[in-house]
Amino acid sequence: MARYTDSVCRLCRREGQKLFLKGERCYSEKCALVRRNYAPGEHGQGRRKNSEYGTQTRTKQKAKRYYGVLEHQFHKYYEMAIKQAGITGDNLLRILESRLDNIVYRAGFANSRAEARQLVTHRHFSVNGVIVNVPSYLCKAGDVVAVRHTEVEKIKSAIEANSARPKPSWMDVDSEHMSATVTKLPDRSEIDFDIEEHFIVELYSK
Ligand code: SF4
Repeated sequence: MARYTDSVCRLCRREGQKLFLKGERCYSEKCALVRRNYAPGEHGQGRRKNSEYGTQTRTKQKAKRYYGVLEHQFHKYYEMAIKQAGITGDNLLRILESRLDNIVYRAGFANSRAEARQLVTHRHFSVNGVIVNVPSYLCKAGDVVAVRHTEVEKIKSAIEANSARPKPSWMDVDSEHMSATVTKLPDRSEIDFDIEEHFIVELYSK
């Protein structure tokens, strides 16, 4: 599967927004966006022209990068979102938030979504007592995500590093026992992602 292998900080600089792709560094002064808040490349500091289509595609790119999802899967989530009742953009973000890798990251069991994906693939997590090694697994309200191997150094250090960071209101995190219960799936107001998702809906609905 095609994966982006260049510096992930370039992605944040391209979007002009922190996408939190590098763990602890993202919260420090070492963040590349703090030091160089302009797009990468020769013309990065020039003026950006934004057409309507350009804004829509940029917004989609931003969401895909933030959640670490490739085009095919992202479009699948959009198809799911339009079939659900309510606002499509809200539904889309809710689906993305319910991915297991996102929940592992949001709960503070990993320093980034990429790390969460790797840990899930390596069978370090269970959902309701059953091993799940699929990062795209969609969790539901009431699901309990638990760490299976409590001695894994990466998970222990992530829990420690993330202990002071606030956890989402829609999950109940028990760091001591290394588990998190999804109490409900989030409303838009509970998702702290600065994005105008209606641009994505406009783009796909053309
Ligand atoms: Fe983005 Fe994190 Fe790099 Fe900052 S440190 S530019 S937030 S990936």
